[in-house]
Amino acid sequence: MTTIDRSKPIMITGATGYVAGWLVKKLLLEGFTIHAPVRQPGNKDKVAHLDRLAEGTPGTIKYFSADLLDEGSYTEAMEGCELVFHTASPFNPNVDHPEKELIEPAVKGTKNVLNSANKVDSVKRVVLTSSCAAIYTDATDCQNAPGGVLTEADWNTTASLEYQPYSLSKTLAEKTAWDISNAQDRWDLVTINPCLVMGPTLNPGGTTSESLNLLKQLGDGTLRAGVPRVNIGLVDVRDVADAHYLAGFTPEAHGRYITCAHNTSFPELAEALQPRYGADYPIPTRVLPKWLVMLVGPLVNKTLSRRFVKNNVGIAFNVDNSKIRKELGIDFRPLKTTMEDAFAVLVEEGVV
Ligand code: NAP
Repeated sequence: MTTIDRSKPIMITGATGYVAGWLVKKLLLEGFTIHAPVRQPGNKDKVAHLDRLAEGTPGTIKYFSADLLDEGSYTEAMEGCELVFHTASPFNPNVDHPEKELIEPAVKGTKNVLNSANKVDSVKRVVLTSSCAAIYTDATDCQNAPGGVLTEADWNTTASLEYQPYSLSKTLAEKTAWDISNAQDRWDLVTINPCLVMGPTLNPGGTTSESLNLLKQLGDGTLRAGVPRVNIGLVDVRDVADAHYLAGFTPEAHGRYITCAHNTSFPELAEALQPRYGADYPIPTRVLPKWLVMLVGPLVNKTLSRRFVKNNVGIAFNVDNSKIRKELGIDFRPLKTTMEDAFAVLVEEGVV
């Protein structure tokens, strides 16, 4: 049982990111002082949207300079904080050097942040943004889980440096976090494991998150010919922020929390956008047959490798979200709301 003193500052790594933005907003509205260690505190393009969020709220945001790869760089921002949210980690599956661009920042960064937690006496709880990618790589992994459904008991055993290295980065980072946490007993660790996060961005054009890249492709004509039936989990970015908040402030919160609202598919995401946006934007209406995706996929997109297509297209995907609903009381938004609100921001900003 860990009770957080709400008068103390809260630290959030990766505050400039898509997922963390909504958590920052929630904490500012509740009057918290946020310590935000970021790579470029002086870069207005990175932090201006956070400053705007703070305006007129009872909360405050203070920036510090830190990098996942710089040892000890999070210690100063952590001083005086009882609660630490560690969200920073690169989310981009299209990299040329996975070890350097994904694994190192994810794993070294987690070590770095948690070693600081070991040094700073005020810290009582760390909430780590992990991922369902630390649970599975392909939809076929569900078939090996009891009843075909993945739970918090499952760990990703199939990602590698050569295949889905982003998933490997999240798996290794979360394992590192549990190892460091289990070696001490002053602070506890809770992990939030979201599936694909979708919903409105607070910083259009300013994030590198793959979530927004996928959404853009549904509306900019890239997928005009159709989408493969890739089955995935999806959750609203605002619900992910609530999940972090509840994981931080619920004294009994413990262990991992799968944060997935809907077991769905790419064609269903497109379908959710059709009624409102189908007439004005080239939202895909067709489902591409597996044989065609197998043939053409690898030529048009390096993440659509034959192995990915074989293991995901048309294969059922199921995760169990009952732990977070029961223990943290989350009530997830409907899929249509998430997709429409997400797309509305891209339309307003002229991104599609
Ligand atoms: P994002 O918008 O790209 O945010 C990534 C954040 O990490 C940014 O704040 C970025 O800072 C920071 N970062 C990256 N490399 C860094 C480094 N070397 N040093 C310090 N900070 C660094 O992506 P996101 O979707 O919000 O992802 C946030 C977290 O959610 C990640 O841990 C990701 O794995 C997890 N997650 C995301 C999804 C999803 O579907 N989006 C699903 C499950 C889990 P800069 O602004 O300086 O680049």
